[in-house]
Order: sequence, then C-alpha cells, then structure tokens
Amino acid sequence: MNYQIEIRKIKDFLNDKVYLTNINMQRKYIYNHAQATALLDSIQKKIPIPAIYLWSNHNGTYDVLDGKQRITVMRLYVDPNYLPDNVNNFFIDHMNQNDFENYEIPVIICNGTEQEKIETFKRINTTAIPLKEFEIYNALYQGLFVEEFGNWGINASPNEEKFFGGGIRGENCIKATKLFTSEIEKFFAHNRDNSFVNGLKTQIDRLVTTVIEIFSAYNDDWYVLAKIVLENSNDISKINSWKLNKQKICELFNEHKLNGDTAIAPSKESFYNELLGCYNIVGLDGRRFFAKDDKKVMYEKLASGISRGKKLCPHCDKEFSFDEFEIDHIRAWSKGGRTELNNAQLICKKCNASKGAR
Ligand SMILES: [Zn+2]
Repeated sequence: MNYQIEIRKIKDFLNDKVYLTNINMQRKYIYNHAQATALLDSIQKKIPIPAIYLWSNHNGTYDVLDGKQRITVMRLYVDPNYLPDNVNNFFIDHMNQNDFENYEIPVIICNGTEQEKIETFKRINTTAIPLKEFEIYNALYQGLFVEEFGNWGINASPNEEKFFGGGIRGENCIKATKLFTSEIEKFFAHNRDNSFVNGLKTQIDRLVTTVIEIFSAYNDDWYVLAKIVLENSNDISKINSWKLNKQKICELFNEHKLNGDTAIAPSKESFYNELLGCYNIVGLDGRRFFAKDDKKVMYEKLASGISRGKKLCPHCDKEFSFDEFEIDHIRAWSKGGRTELNNAQLICKKCNASKGAR
C-alpha cells in the first residue's frame, strides 16, 4: 500500500513511540552533515525523496524496514529535544517550519508473515549502503544477545582481534559465531533474549585461552586452529597432549611453513589437522608432506625402466600428465613411512582417492 504522509505525522509517530515501535530495525544513525543537509534541502525545494518502508505488525504497530536515516533527520528538524550522540546541529534555519511539516513523504506499508518481513527487509537493504551480515541479524533479532554481542565486537581485546579480525560492523561477531554453528540465522533467533556475556562469550573465552596456550609460539591462522581445537574439545586427552607438547608442535608447524608444505595440502585446515592428528599416532618425527619439487623429481624418473618412455600410474597402468599425478607415500606416514623420495611414488588422482585412509 502506498501513502503520502505529512512529516508532522512522522513526528507524532515518534513522539508516541508506540506507533513506530522498532525504530532500531536498522543500524544506528550514520548520516553525515552533508547527507542530512541534502535531504532537508530536497524537502525545502519540494524534490521527491525516496519512499520510507514500514512493516505493519499484527498488533497495530509499525517497524521501519527502510528510512531510519531519513526519519531521524526529519525528527531532528521537528523535535529540538531529540539529538543523538553523534549529531551536531545541522539545521538549515531559513526553512519555514510549517512548510516542512506539511511536506508529504511517500510511505510504503507492507504486511505479511514474519518470514516475508525478514525477506522484504533483506531485499530492501541490499541496495544503497549494503548492510553487513551482523547488522541484518542485529536488526531482525533485537534483544539482549545482539546488544551485548555487538558491544563485544566493538571492544574486542587484541587477542580476540587476532582471532576474529577487527570489529567493523560486526564482522568479527559473525566469524566468532561461525565457529560454533553453521545455522547463523537460527542461532541469532534462538538466542535473542539470552545473555551473550554469560553464554557464548564464556565459550569464546575458553577457546581463545586454549588456542593461545597451545599455539602461542605459532603465530599464524589462530582462527583455523581454533576450529580444530573446538572440534576436538571433547577429547580431553588429545587436548592435554597438545598442551603438554605445545613447544614441539609449534616448532613442527613453523618448520612445515618454511618448507611450504601447505601448498601441497588441499587446505590449511586439513594440513593442520593432519599435523595434529598424526602427532597423536607417531609423534612429531619427520616431514609429513612432500614438497612441490619432490613431485618434479619423481616425474622425471617415471619415464625410465619398464614403462619405456611412458608416464604410467603403477596402480591402473594408464598414462597421465604431470598435473594428473599425485605424490604419495608407499608406506603410509601414519604407519611410520618417511617423507623421503625412496618412500615416494606418483599415482593418478583417481587411484590415490580410491585408496582412502590407510
Ligand atoms: Zn591410476
């Protein structure tokens, strides 16, 4: 439904505080002086301004889906007692108050189910200055949880920043949440009225402390390591063995980083997982992964001998190119096989994958 509503009515809504309940549906007031003045100037010159979107709730109240910034400016102009912290006086004083309040702004009122409301809000706010993921949840699930969580995000400690990044627009909050759940939206909805400080924060603190304790001498990728520690957090003996051998583990990690072994592993996470996993079986003796140069050496050697010039996979006996081969341990590393060329073979990707975990 489309309406033209006089600005004075916006003022009435806001003074009531009943009508436009969820004025915090959107982010905080972020207009600067120039943006606010431009809006007032448009109104004065009677240039149309973009519509304000309201959502009609079943109990007769409205939520602001889009237009928080514009409404705030109008309210500033008509209500001298209202001044958010970050606003200086920007009023253009020659505008006739009556003209201003008579100005009609386009208002679009939507309604429907809660899910439609969320969808509409997301769609409207993907234009203009896009909302970051946390800002969307912050708006949709207003309550104790996002309030405390948002404060944590802004005031994160240096160690927490090293884990989750800086607190710009809640990005670190999202990163922290993703460690604990893959269903972010459900998580925010479910925890809406819970305390973050007495809940999720205690879990984050515990995780950060454990990761720092084990990996203090390895300065990279604490976030990835946090994931692995969290996945293994129920295995107390494993965590304790990591804590006990933290110095050796960090030495090994640094050594592998210098060797560039991560380039061979499919992902950093699987690489770290292998290192830590194998530690529990065979200790920290020797390299885990072959280096890129090892594969080249093996490939050169491959054409000699019984294959008569052809580069054949020893398992399926078919011919493959360099990129189609993978370098592999003949005797598995987890069973004591060393990462040395005399324990290496090139086999095709298909055969290597079908071997599975040995
Ligand atoms: Zn093969």
